[in-house]
Amino acid sequence: MNTPTNDAHSHAHSSADALQAAVTMADDYCRERGQKLTPIRRTVLELLLASGRATKAYTLLDEMRAMHPNASPPTVYRALDFLLSAGLIHRIESINAFTVCHDLTHCQHGVLIVCQQCGRVTELQQQQQLRQTLMSQVEASGYRLAGDDIELKGICPACQAAEDPSAHQHDHASH
Ligand SMILES: [Zn+2]
Ligand SMILES: [Zn+2]
Repeated sequence: MNTPTNDAHSHAHSSADALQAAVTMADDYCRERGQKLTPIRRTVLELLLASGRATKAYTLLDEMRAMHPNASPPTVYRALDFLLSAGLIHRIESINAFTVCHDLTHCQHGVLIVCQQCGRVTELQQQQQLRQTLMSQVEASGYRLAGDDIELKGICPACQAAEDPSAHQHDHASH
């Protein structure tokens, strides 16, 4: 008798485990800071972790309402504000969306590269020297920064592949 393989299952489990491990880490981090990862904050963080890409606030609100029909925009915005101030997530200005920080609690934020098409975000480990050089130039300019995120705009490898006309010709070799 043939039984379905468990491959797909174990894969789903491991990513769910990784998500839970990340949430537990964030929870501990908040507690150490004397703050609380309330159920709403936790759910917003889980949604962002599960999405894996930059997500708009209204999308989060829709997903939230699917689980908690009473969720209101202010509760979601307050949860986002908390997660931002705790350094657990980033606001992606160029596409007005949110994404989870690459290392939830170590707070060494890197340079964010944001795909302008699909919202995928990669956070590059930033060399300390680069940041220091930049900051001293900023200081010399006389500006005071409104935030310390560095955000680059781009098109991710998957979207580039989808754009590539030669890849299309391959798929549809019709005349
Ligand atoms: Zn970060
Ligand atoms: Zn993309």
